[in-house]
Amino acid sequence: MAIDLHTHSRVSDGTDSPTELVAKAVAAGLTAMALTDHDTFDGLDEAQAAAEASGLDLVRGLEMSTKRGAASVHLLGYLVDESDPELTAELVRVRAGRGDRLAPVLEKLAALGVAVTEQEVLAQVGDSPSIGRPHIADALVAAGHVADRREAFDRFLADGGPAHVERYATPLERGIELIKAAGGVAVIAHPWSRGHRPDLPEEYLASLVPLGLDGIEVDHVDHDPETRVELRALADRLGLLATGSSDHHGLGKVGHPLGVNTTSPEVLAEIRRRAR
Ligand code: AMP
Ligand code: FE
Ligand code: FE
Ligand code: ZN
Repeated sequence: MAIDLHTHSRVSDGTDSPTELVAKAVAAGLTAMALTDHDTFDGLDEAQAAAEASGLDLVRGLEMSTKRGAASVHLLGYLVDESDPELTAELVRVRAGRGDRLAPVLEKLAALGVAVTEQEVLAQVGDSPSIGRPHIADALVAAGHVADRREAFDRFLADGGPAHVERYATPLERGIELIKAAGGVAVIAHPWSRGHRPDLPEEYLASLVPLGLDGIEVDHVDHDPETRVELRALADRLGLLATGSSDHHGLGKVGHPLGVNTTSPEVLAEIRRRAR
């Protein structure tokens, strides 16, 4: 049993279609996989059809863009009612916030001497219903301004970077509420990645348990071995589920091959048990 509960297709900022992603999951020896595109369910039906045809157990999910204060927090939602009106409306709002930010980001990039046009960005968007920073990064790569997405983020687009522009994201507590109200299971993705540890200290995570937080992603490429030990102990203390996953983005992120981290069958069974 190899279970990977966090992946992206080109319906957000991955590079594989949902069908290709499922084929790669099977080839990588996964038995179950969650597709968790950013702020959209649009890839799930295609993934489900491909999964049924190839015997892969697909877990329907998403990764919501949320915030605690100014800090960005990614929230995985599994097995939610995808037609829930409040959740749907909130996802529309988050995706619209990405679009609103595009022009000001492009202005900043032009002022920094690395101009790309809106058309050049749109050419990179794949099948995503919103235009994310990774697509802007891809346009910078295509224009020859940077070598890869990594350099685009490091030099320009990362939070606080010279071409960064704030956008709307759901308050984390509201995100948990929405996922729970839609019958889903809420797991914070890579809670202590890239300097985010101070944003989510244990006391604060403890305060999310009464709101219905179900788990945290412990085994993730962005967590070093000591961090994983600490997060696992924290999950035990708070009674949270501990998941593991690749956060695969196809060619869009290096070092995240499918199945590089996995979730135990017991935890997946518990996720299914909790979903309404
Ligand atoms: P957006 O939601 O459009 O602001 O873009 C956020 C996405 O950009 C995240 O889901 C990541 O895939 C990617 N991302 C954010 N920060 C970084 C970073 N510092 N380095 C690489 N990728 C990043
Ligand atoms: Fe992403
Ligand atoms: Fe994430
Ligand atoms: Zn992700």
